Amino acid sequence: MIIGGVQWTTLLDYPERIAATLFTAGCNFRCPFCHNPELVLPELVSNASKRLDDAFFAQLEDRMGFLDGVVISGGEPALQADLVVILERIKRLGFLIKLDTNGSQPDVILDVLERGLVDFIAMDVKAPVNSYDHLAGVAVDVSAIKRSMSLIMRLADDYEFRTTAAPGLSMADLLEIGTWLDGAGAYWLQEFQAPACKALVDMRCTEQPVLTTNDLEAVWLKLRDRFPIGGVRC
Ligand code: SF4
Repeated sequence: MIIGGVQWTTLLDYPERIAATLFTAGCNFRCPFCHNPELVLPELVSNASKRLDDAFFAQLEDRMGFLDGVVISGGEPALQADLVVILERIKRLGFLIKLDTNGSQPDVILDVLERGLVDFIAMDVKAPVNSYDHLAGVAVDVSAIKRSMSLIMRLADDYEFRTTAAPGLSMADLLEIGTWLDGAGAYWLQEFQAPACKALVDMRCTEQPVLTTNDLEAVWLKLRDRFPIGGVRC
């Protein structure tokens, strides 16, 4: 597994758990609004990345009893060829695992869920079907996205779908995504905030309008009856 970094303690990335977060390097999407170009753009990934080694597992063992779980985020973790081996090794130490994914690799999602290697899975839903390519920055196989959604709803013990209100997304777009996700157990709308001192994958996206917290709350009012769990994250 090629990683861009580790955050050893987070109270935010794994709901109601204390976790460490592993950031895998490399992604097949180019979401313009992505906050982690160093995990996405090949010319930046090569500078910052390294192979996950035994030192990580030694440090993880040192934190047994303190950390509840490990979040595997990215980049896109499902592209890592040894994902299953790494998840198995983390599981053997007794940690919960949360996987963050863009949903483009349904076969990997099926594999890790069937093996019981993931306790919580969070999938980003970038856009309504017709504008998926634009928001992901590449041509996307939306049938793979739909299959991942369906697998997660059917097989995952605990999960959430979430959409970042990226520049250019409208309230109508979010309502359309919410309708698309009807039947899901959890859906979160996430406010977009341009980082003050960090580049995005494509800074030109900030020239487009961004929905406010009030806009997202208004969208959620119309969606909330569809989802047992969810809301607006600022
Ligand atoms: S936001 Fe988009 S480009 Fe960035 S890591 Fe996630 S899927 Fe990849």
